[in-house]
Amino acid sequence: MVPETERSLLLRQLKNYLLFLKESGHTHAPLNSELSELPVMPVPSGTFRGSSSQPLETQMTLIPTESNDDHEPSGDLTDVREELGDCQRCKLCETRKTIVFGSGNPDADLVFVGEGPGADEDAQGLPFVGRAGRKLTEIIEKGMLLNREKDTYICNIVKCRPPGNRDPEKDEVDACKPFLIKQLKAIRPKVIVALGKPAASTLLGRTVPITKERGTWHEFEGMKLMLTYHPAYLLRAYTKENRQAVYDDMQKVMEILKA
Ligand code: SF4
Repeated sequence: MVPETERSLLLRQLKNYLLFLKESGHTHAPLNSELSELPVMPVPSGTFRGSSSQPLETQMTLIPTESNDDHEPSGDLTDVREELGDCQRCKLCETRKTIVFGSGNPDADLVFVGEGPGADEDAQGLPFVGRAGRKLTEIIEKGMLLNREKDTYICNIVKCRPPGNRDPEKDEVDACKPFLIKQLKAIRPKVIVALGKPAASTLLGRTVPITKERGTWHEFEGMKLMLTYHPAYLLRAYTKENRQAVYDDMQKVMEILKA
């Protein structure tokens, strides 16, 4: 009988590992009854939190199945995740439950960059899964006629939840930004969409007045960058004018993606 504390730790480790596989583009992680005959999947350092007397490699033997051709994991993006590890580079590590690295297709032509994880994202380890996330999914799937998981990759400027959903502070953004840049360079999409002022300001390196500059094209490391409202702002200021603005911005993005 596995003690409750150990069981809880193993379940959390399993959850983090499955999230890591999902982030890396894998769609399956079957458990085989003949565990001893299966190769051990190397466990990225820092993927798990907590500690145990046994090496993690001997606690679980999971292998990914052949990945979908459309979702061949990007080695580079996996490297970035491994380098991030169980990050303690800023004080947000003290209060987070989970590092929310990003999700979607590592080879997507379109990447959305938001501000930071909220409570739902922190709990699930995935970006944009709360109310604002549902609005973003609606924008992607109904406004742009794309599939969120297959056609986009979504991440944030900070990977850990700021307490009380406050804005990320400068030192936190500065600590996390190198990983955002590495993520974007690893994916190298046709278009990056900055969602809201903090994401736009972080990527452009200046304070961006988003109401004035939304809908305009910029460049980030040789990639096209579109600025638009954050879906949480859209929910707060749910006017026809704001909805039309985001719709228009996304149509501009679609023109580039189709070109
Ligand atoms: S926000 Fe970024 S830099 Fe700060 S602890 Fe989390 S992953 Fe590390």
